[in-house]
Amino acid sequence: MKIVEHFLTRNRCYQAAQQNTKGGLMLHSVGCPQPSAQVFVNSWNSADKSACVHAFIDANTGDVYQTLPWEYRGWHCGSGPNGSGNNTHIGVEMCEPACIRYTDGARFTCSNVEEARAAVRRTYESAVQLFAELCERFRFDPLADGVILSHEEGHKRGIASNHGDPVHLWNQLNMGYTMDEFRKAIKAAMGSAAVPAEPAAVDNAAVIWNFLKSKGLNDYAVAGIMGNLEKESGLDPCNLQNSYNKKLNISDADYTAVVDAGAYPDFVTDKAGYGLVQWTYWSRKKALLDYAKAAGTSIGDLNMQLAFMWQELQGYKAVMTVLNSAASVREASDIVLHKYEQPGDQSVAVEEKRAASGQTFFDRFTGSSVSPFPIVPFLVRVVIPDLNIRTSPGSADNSNLSGKYTGIGTFTIVEISGSWGLLKSYRKKRNGWIYLGNPDYCEICS
Ligand SMILES: [Zn+2]
Repeated sequence: MKIVEHFLTRNRCYQAAQQNTKGGLMLHSVGCPQPSAQVFVNSWNSADKSACVHAFIDANTGDVYQTLPWEYRGWHCGSGPNGSGNNTHIGVEMCEPACIRYTDGARFTCSNVEEARAAVRRTYESAVQLFAELCERFRFDPLADGVILSHEEGHKRGIASNHGDPVHLWNQLNMGYTMDEFRKAIKAAMGSAAVPAEPAAVDNAAVIWNFLKSKGLNDYAVAGIMGNLEKESGLDPCNLQNSYNKKLNISDADYTAVVDAGAYPDFVTDKAGYGLVQWTYWSRKKALLDYAKAAGTSIGDLNMQLAFMWQELQGYKAVMTVLNSAASVREASDIVLHKYEQPGDQSVAVEEKRAASGQTFFDRFTGSSVSPFPIVPFLVRVVIPDLNIRTSPGSADNSNLSGKYTGIGTFTIVEISGSWGLLKSYRKKRNGWIYLGNPDYCEICS
């Protein structure tokens, strides 16, 4: 089994970089006659996609196409009354044979049973190997309750949407495979599975969070700053503004190296955004360079940049005043956006994106329960005619009833508060919320 890395860097699950809690692994199959993993990789690598699995297994070759870092939270199984398996389980899709045709739900006809069985056997055997490797890496016991699940089993446990994969495929082709056999096969393969060496990645988000907290900022303020940094640089202190990677034909690492070597005299004047904050203006880049020299560090050193940013922020009095008393992630994020980062586009959409990014850090580091919903914006299908629209999230009393209903239909949610979602058409005034927590009222689409 070969693992090929094809991270879907434009997909919203990749962009949000939320962490799953590493509770187990969920097995899926794609539910359409498409054996090629590459086809899914291509179509899912889009900012329009909020659903994402961690890997596809190609049915022609058995190769594994890894599409998300294993630690990230994907969106592969929806949710149920007991929450969402997306928060806990890594999701892997097996591609399906080209020679089947779905007729009704999970039923299909097959024009070449031998070919179909060979394809399904390839994906099954690769899945066993892959899951064995992941169980070793994350110290999962594949036989322990709830660790290895099919999408169907996830649904029965109330943590996934109502799908029958992948057992529907195995049964109709009389493969003789069951999930219990699958779990046993993983256990048997574990002794022989080679654990791929993975360098211990420095968790920049944790370093930044801890640095800013050590300065006395509250959680909202820290998250609001971090959402901005995430959108500026992906929290990468060596990040060079993308257009300059092209213009100068240089990688982030090489740019950093030539600056460090004193071999690039244009650092101050080249107008290229660089580092955590994407410092751009010449006087700020000069100050950053001087600061790095004085500290004796690389220009791309994370801790140096944090200390420099903190020193710089002290000169932004209005920003610090708001940060020191921030009462929400949005409030902190907005002041950093408008008065410190000041990018060209400071629209409401940008405000929302940065605040949403900040919220993911808030949730991760404050231990707030991870939302059982996809990353906003996402679609919700309301299935009853009289779902109330409320002017604020919550239903403690009925004073916030707007008197309006959504009606049956599909709507875009742009913000989450607990189990409440803000409807897109109310985004400006933020006064149109619906309850998302009852699957009898609405279904979360992905
Ligand atoms: Zn599934």
